[in-house]
Amino acid sequence: MIKVNENFLRLKSSYLFSEIAKRVQEFQTQNPKVEIIRLGIGDVTLPLPKACIQAMHKAIDELGQASTFKGYGPEQGYSFLREAIAKHDYQQKNIDISPEEIFVSDGSKCDTGNFQELFSQDIKVAVPDPVYPVYVDSNVMAGRTGEFKDGEYQGLVYLRSTKHNNYLPDLPSQKIDLIYLCFPNNPTGASITKEQLQVWVDYALEHKALILFDAAYEAFIQDSTLPHSIFEIPGAKQVAVEFRSFSKTAGFTGTRCAFTVIPKECFIYNSQGEKINLHKLWLRRQTTKFNGVSYVVQRAAQAVYSEEGQQQVKNNIAYYLNNAQLIRKTIQELGFHCVGGENSPYIWIECKQDSWDFFNFLLHKAGIVSTPGSGFGKSGEGYIRLSAFNSLENVTLAMQRLKEVFNS
Ligand SMILES: *Cc1c(COP(=O)(O)O)cnc(C)c1O
Repeated sequence: MIKVNENFLRLKSSYLFSEIAKRVQEFQTQNPKVEIIRLGIGDVTLPLPKACIQAMHKAIDELGQASTFKGYGPEQGYSFLREAIAKHDYQQKNIDISPEEIFVSDGSKCDTGNFQELFSQDIKVAVPDPVYPVYVDSNVMAGRTGEFKDGEYQGLVYLRSTKHNNYLPDLPSQKIDLIYLCFPNNPTGASITKEQLQVWVDYALEHKALILFDAAYEAFIQDSTLPHSIFEIPGAKQVAVEFRSFSKTAGFTGTRCAFTVIPKECFIYNSQGEKINLHKLWLRRQTTKFNGVSYVVQRAAQAVYSEEGQQQVKNNIAYYLNNAQLIRKTIQELGFHCVGGENSPYIWIECKQDSWDFFNFLLHKAGIVSTPGSGFGKSGEGYIRLSAFNSLENVTLAMQRLKEVFNS
């Protein structure tokens, strides 16, 4: 008899986006004339940078010629891309990361989801709350949690991030082995300073813990004092892995390319307390379970680092951040407390009522789709997320509607 992996049965059905879709559909059916504005999306909307398109066309032509055809590539990614990443994202910013420490992949969702399989079943795991659900669910699937009770999985440690701690979790009071951090954060849009990040690195060094640092939104950082990489922090190379993606940076959500950085000096431990090299372990995992990102897409990612590519990416980010600023300004003018929108495409708004009630209010009174904070975890209750991934025209119209609703 074929038996199920019962860990999967523990997963709470993720009803957030289906429930949003259902409510929006119902509203639209009842109000066919209202033009709904979607500020709930966690996906980019601007087209790919021209430099990437050109590189892809060229790469496709290469695949059509016997002399330049490519079959399987290296699982870790082509050298041309790993070298471009190491040079532009790290070495030019005085961060000592080599191309060999970079693993190119088809997404940070897969990498942050898969990475936990390198660790023992009995480690203590801490996740942010509110959270990007991948960190939680992948550990549930792996059997590292108990039942879902009162909005939380037993056995997981939740790092509360609310208005009361400025959306920066306090250090856990118990000993943690694996810590997920995401800055600039999804969903809150909050960012972390070097000093604040140093506290987490020091904790990890002291407790022989590991930090999985999700930097998917680093390209949105405008404040030059904020760290783009955890490896800007002294000691981090021994205790951290960094995940970055071209998805939000360059509009690759449908094109698929990301990378994970594992310094060669990063170690974990076996049951005897002996050091195990994490870089070698992930390489072994990837060469077994992954067969690389397509050549065409890696050429497109490389083009992000060309002079034109850099300019085009910068323009796209500036466009979204302009939207974000408009949202943030309006929300504050209307008297709401919010965070994010300065170094992030997300604005996290305190609604002083049930998240879903406020979601309904915005939908019915202003025709605006938001994301209820409670969908990201217990500490998200009482908040909603607005996203800047829409057109300036739509965002402007949405903000006009909000002003009318709240000022009348
Ligand atoms: C969008 C996003 C990613 C990127 O995922 P990809 O699989 O690379 O598209 C990673 N982490 C967070 C928190 C995100 O919001």
